[in-house]
Amino acid sequence: MWRKALTLFGKFRRRADAGRPPTTGVIPIGIVVALAIICVVAAVLTAADRADDVELQQERLLLTNAIADRGHRVLRELENIAASHDVVYQLHYNFDRDWVHHLVGLRLNTFFDHDHVFVADGADRLTYALQGDASVDPDLFGPAKSELNRVVELLRGRALPNLDEYHQEPAIDPKTKLGHPRGVQRLQLFMKRPAIVAGVVAELPSLAGPISGGHPPLLMTVKFLDGQLLSDIGVRFDLPRLRALGSDPVRNDEHVYVVADSAGAAIARFAWAPNQPGTSIVSTVLPFMAIAFGGFALLTALALRYIRRSAAKIAEGENRLRHLALHDPLSGLPNRTYFGERLGAVIGGTGKSDGIAAVLAIDLDHFKDINDTLGHHIGDGLIGVVAQRLVHAVRHEDLVARLGGDEFAVITTEAADLQMLQRFAERLIAVLRAPYSISGHTLLIGASIGIAVIDRRTGDGADIMRRADVALYRAKNEGRSRACIYDADMDADLRERKQLENDLRTAIAEDRLSVAYQPIMNASGEKMAGVEALCRWSHPTRGNVPPSDFIPIAERSELIIPLGEWVLRQACIEAKRWTGLTVAVNVSPLQFRRQDFVEMVERILAETEFDPNRLELELTESTLLGNVEEAEKAMHRLKAQGVRFALDDFGTGYSSLLYLRSFPFDRIKIDRSFVRSIESAADAASIVHAIVSLGRGLGMKVTAEGVETAEQQLFLRAAGVHSMQGFRFGKPSPAAVISERLHPAAAAPQAAAG
Ligand code: C2E
Ligand code: MG
Ligand code: MG
Repeated sequence: MWRKALTLFGKFRRRADAGRPPTTGVIPIGIVVALAIICVVAAVLTAADRADDVELQQERLLLTNAIADRGHRVLRELENIAASHDVVYQLHYNFDRDWVHHLVGLRLNTFFDHDHVFVADGADRLTYALQGDASVDPDLFGPAKSELNRVVELLRGRALPNLDEYHQEPAIDPKTKLGHPRGVQRLQLFMKRPAIVAGVVAELPSLAGPISGGHPPLLMTVKFLDGQLLSDIGVRFDLPRLRALGSDPVRNDEHVYVVADSAGAAIARFAWAPNQPGTSIVSTVLPFMAIAFGGFALLTALALRYIRRSAAKIAEGENRLRHLALHDPLSGLPNRTYFGERLGAVIGGTGKSDGIAAVLAIDLDHFKDINDTLGHHIGDGLIGVVAQRLVHAVRHEDLVARLGGDEFAVITTEAADLQMLQRFAERLIAVLRAPYSISGHTLLIGASIGIAVIDRRTGDGADIMRRADVALYRAKNEGRSRACIYDADMDADLRERKQLENDLRTAIAEDRLSVAYQPIMNASGEKMAGVEALCRWSHPTRGNVPPSDFIPIAERSELIIPLGEWVLRQACIEAKRWTGLTVAVNVSPLQFRRQDFVEMVERILAETEFDPNRLELELTESTLLGNVEEAEKAMHRLKAQGVRFALDDFGTGYSSLLYLRSFPFDRIKIDRSFVRSIESAADAASIVHAIVSLGRGLGMKVTAEGVETAEQQLFLRAAGVHSMQGFRFGKPSPAAVISERLHPAAAAPQAAAG
């Protein structure tokens, strides 16, 4: 059994406390989901931003084009007016301020909303100016007049236009022969306000002749780039809240557009709140996205929670399985496997601490009897309490394991010396021997302990367990309820026992056993009423081996079955001739419990033709434990044929009245331990009295065993026993001796022949 534990040794190397829930896989999933959400949000926001950006560029372009377009329109309007033959003619040859005012100035002002109109003569002097809807003296404009110079210079061809200064294709000035544009428009400040300033040369190809003598007059106009014009552009091109930036601050949602003149100087700053299609899409989509992401996150959280819980459940299941694999379900203690693992670890670590490490193999004495008499549930309850007591009795670092049945084991590591180990084991025995109360039953049980010191030099776990087992065997053989520490002699002892077992097997096979018969006398001690058959073994080298040595060996190795059968047959054969004498034969529990026991007795009776009425089978209380119904049946079957039964060694076992009442015994045999104490112990005498009256009360005969002295005989006779057996009347002796005692004359030649 010990060895079996150790073959499993090493198979289960996993640690007992292994297994936290493996939730690490959950974190990457969470990260991936979070990243996916972040990526989608980032993509949407980037796309929205990009869309807003594109829209802004579009709107800037629109504004640029709108301003440029305004410039072209102003120039075209001016050209329209200047294209009139009458206008050119009038300007050239018949300058009339009023006429100019009504047909040029007011037309440009009324129809096209130009803010100022100017006319310059061939010498670039301003001859006409319009302000509001009135014709005014050009000098009223003061220094602002010079702000028209650039347009004049360009129109005269004295300056070259910049890229942004729009101009018509050049014409050749007939006087200077210089090429000059027919019309020009540019953005610039006029009277500190941003404006489109446009100018055309007032000449017509058809009039080239008459005016060729001097410079043609110039017609110029100013249209301010703010106020109504700006809001028109804003409405037309959908540029919300388009305005000229004055001193008021720029709002957060506004975009600033700087208008520069041809020299690159800023002449105006406009602001508007750009349309943001991306942002508005995002704000429309965002609630839905938020709901979707919320749902997604919730789903993920649920999935994660499920995974986490599943992982926790799996881990818990694994832990439970592992616990089950390593623990005994009945007592909750570590089992053989766990014990084997720990033993291996302790062996590996020996020498690291100062103390002695040892294994204590613990076996409960006669546990089987409790199981058999009171039932398995009481036995199980007892095992549970024994486990608890052991756990409380050892140190926290020590390991208590249940190896199966009533076998327990302790691994301890800190004993200072062997004496301390011995004391520790004795303390455990004392703890286990204290009375138990299980389901209303008060129980007493002993324990035997075998101790093996763990030492790296002494070998592996299997070897240490074997030693503990050998020491336990010794403890049991020395009378149980004790502790023995293994020493090398025990091995020799065990070997010797094994040898004895083999020798006994040979002796049975070769018919080398014999039967001795001890007389059983009547109450007066004068007449032999029967004999008890007792097995004898004369060993070739050891001499006579006492039954107390070989019967236990036979019982442990089941050799008791052929041995018992042989004794019964031999007794029937030898005692057949002792007419009238009862022959008592001992029956071992193992023999009696066999299915074929009754058939075996019947067969031998038939074979030997022995009178069943003369046969008495001696059972002990332990024979009857557990199998009450079977035992009763077997006894009744044999009794029906005349066989009688005696309860042997009464007073040493359970001495339960139940046995006496339930089983059909014919006789009680008072154990010799009471007879021996009759003279010395008063209670023994009273017990003998009690047993006698009990037997008589139940209608049974009472026999006293081990009667050695006349005093004992007298006492027992007075007590009322029916028969006596003991050295006083004769030791167990060969059949011939009995024959001679029965028939002194007739037996003499027979004995000589035998
Ligand atoms: P038991 O059945 O109680 O047998 C009586 C034992 O008491 C015998 O010991 C006998 O020699 C011993 N005895 C008898 N009178 C006296 C006395 O006045 N003083 C002392 N000190 N002892 C006395 P034995 O022959 O050594 O047998 C011991 C036990 O071995 C028996 O006890 C019986 O239980 C068992 N045994 C012997 N033969 C057989 C057998 O064939 N089958 C079985 N199953 N058991 C046997
Ligand atoms: Mg006996
Ligand atoms: Mg006896």
